[in-house]
Amino acid sequence: MTDPVDFEIPPAAAACAPKALGRGLCPECFGRLFGQLGHGLSNPERARRLTEALGVPPVPETSDCFVCGGIFSRLPTWVDRSVRAADGFEWHRFTCGSRWEPERLAREEALWIEVGTEWGESARSAFNRELGKRIEAASGASGGTERPDVVFLADLPVGRVELTVLPVYFAGRYRKLDRTLPQTRWPCRRCRGRGCSSCNGTGKTYSTSVEEVIAAPFVAATGADGTRFHGMGREDIDARMLGRGRPFVLELLHPHRRTVDLEPVREALSRGAAGRVEVLDLRVAEAPEVVRVKEASPEKSYRVGVAGDVPVAKVNEALELALTQAIAQRTPKRVAHRRSDRVRTRRVVAARVVEANPGRFTLEIRTEAGTYVKEWVEGDDGRTTPSLASLTGAALKVEFLDVLEIHDS
Ligand SMILES: [Zn+2]
Ligand SMILES: [Zn+2]
Repeated sequence: MTDPVDFEIPPAAAACAPKALGRGLCPECFGRLFGQLGHGLSNPERARRLTEALGVPPVPETSDCFVCGGIFSRLPTWVDRSVRAADGFEWHRFTCGSRWEPERLAREEALWIEVGTEWGESARSAFNRELGKRIEAASGASGGTERPDVVFLADLPVGRVELTVLPVYFAGRYRKLDRTLPQTRWPCRRCRGRGCSSCNGTGKTYSTSVEEVIAAPFVAATGADGTRFHGMGREDIDARMLGRGRPFVLELLHPHRRTVDLEPVREALSRGAAGRVEVLDLRVAEAPEVVRVKEASPEKSYRVGVAGDVPVAKVNEALELALTQAIAQRTPKRVAHRRSDRVRTRRVVAARVVEANPGRFTLEIRTEAGTYVKEWVEGDDGRTTPSLASLTGAALKVEFLDVLEIHDS
């Protein structure tokens, strides 16, 4: 009878295999000393063929193996523990790993040297691979793929599986129609979110935010523990966000359900957020989009209502001049407490007056990312130069500001 897998034992391996006998290894660990030979064989099968070739009795099973301590024989328990740890969570893709006592791994490496094998595979990598295969078989989920839903870490010395549930992501664009709504949850400054008399025990300065409005139906749909909101920049609380809206990614932490029917979410959003927030282009997203959204620096268009006693011809003249020169913008006073104080160079790309009345006018402007528009109009006490105020020689005050468009691709 011929063997299904041709296992050629090189003379060098046949020479060192006897040195591994009588050391209290289980068949799994004995075979694994030669794990890179005989592709497609299990380690116990490798051990059987080696002892056969050497003409010695088979390696006996032992629950107290010198290298693994019987861990391989308890694989089914680790599969059970893993699957049970993820009970109540939706998962389709996973990765798994294991934590070993460092002494065991060191003992194995010392053994490779003593025996003189060049074909060994480490207990940990063999265990992880075998655990993955068995979890796949037990659950129907697929293992070892790039973007897992859950990660299992078998803590061998402790005897339990640590479960990590990865976030699930959704992306879209939001329009904000309310001038009293911050983009993200805004903890109360006095109590830092714990709840105090000045925030009526809510822990928040503003009762809600774009983040909370959008997150609510997703939290309900996924059973997530919390959220992180990633906007492509942010507008001031009192600025509206119009046009096609601002791109965002919503990250849902520790979700129990990952497959979300977006239609009821859209409906809940249009009911619950009516008049305050509108969400467009809602879709499923992936983790890397968070970075893309955070790192994008698109130009933006604004509509700005300005109060100032200046003839419109003078404003037009100033705008023409403004387009030809760079703006040196020192960190505005109003954000100096949270941003480092430095001078940035920015440009206004386009600007025009769209409405003019005695004492006030409305501009539409397009600027580079990161331009402080209010300060460019008013001058911020000379911290922005030139400003529209300095170019017109008039005192100007921004009365309202709307973001008309985020010019991402
Ligand atoms: Zn063993
Ligand atoms: Zn408070």
